[in-house]
Amino acid sequence: MVLEELGGRIARAISQIEKETIIDDKVFNECLNEIARALFQSDVKVEFVNNMKNNIKNIVNLHTIAVGHNKRTIIRQLCKMLDSGKPSFTPKKGKTSVVMVVGLQGSGKTTTCSKYAYYYQKKGWKPAVVCADTYRAGAFDQLKQNADKAKIPIYGCNTEIDPVKIAVDGVDKFKKDNHDLIIVDTAGRHIQEKSETAASLFEEMCQVAEATNPDLVVFVMDSRNGQAAFNQAKAFKQSVAVGSVIVTKMDGHAKGGCVLSAVAATKSPVIFIGTGEHMDELEVFDVKPFVSRLLG
Ligand code: GDP
Repeated sequence: MVLEELGGRIARAISQIEKETIIDDKVFNECLNEIARALFQSDVKVEFVNNMKNNIKNIVNLHTIAVGHNKRTIIRQLCKMLDSGKPSFTPKKGKTSVVMVVGLQGSGKTTTCSKYAYYYQKKGWKPAVVCADTYRAGAFDQLKQNADKAKIPIYGCNTEIDPVKIAVDGVDKFKKDNHDLIIVDTAGRHIQEKSETAASLFEEMCQVAEATNPDLVVFVMDSRNGQAAFNQAKAFKQSVAVGSVIVTKMDGHAKGGCVLSAVAATKSPVIFIGTGEHMDELEVFDVKPFVSRLLG
């Protein structure tokens, strides 16, 4: 279900309740069930939706509270689901921050690294990118192509096979050159297959984190990964200290529910959403406007 459709259904369920002269348990439950159905179909985890339903039921008192208040309660619960409860680390201009980017292969991690750097460059920062993906052939060239286009300095090597060495050398170099934002791209992981390769890539990710001591680890998540996204995000969070999430491919037929899954699985805020393949197609993510947009 596309984002607008999800929003439309939730909004309709709420406005249906507003039309009723008497709001009893039956009417209210039907409203909540419709919201729950919309969320399920948008790939939000079952337990998660049930929690939300129970929370709303506990808060709303049908007999004493005005309809407008109930609507606000439902919207507040939706906002709460999208709020990790703790703000993301935000880099400070003029002070060096190291941001490590992790995610499944194909999630849009490499593209997001250059978009993220470009976003800050446009604001007058001095970002730089390090390619610590020595696993996928062509990873360095891909990042370099994007970085070169935006004139963002890049560190990497096609012949060095140790990602930890590249990451450490790159971060050191850019620190010396007074870059205020150093973004480290890492190799994509496949966690579906419990193979040795997957395990060693996870291990390598932890070593890169340990060696570079990033201020922030960003988990990049593909919005098209459906119900699987929750467990994928959780697996990353368990291995490395994920501090925030960027959800990619929110253009086209993206499902809004994955944003809720990302927050729930990582207990971290979504800071940006990717809305296309181009460099400038990265939007700051803010909970309240997102929910307002959902509800039309
Ligand atoms: P990585 O393997 O995680 O580094 O993924 P890539 O950065 O190579 O991206 C995989 C594909 O997704 C590429 O074709 C990108 O152009 C595309 N992609 C990345 N972000 C977005 C996005 O926000 N929207 C769309 N439509 N495509 C994206």
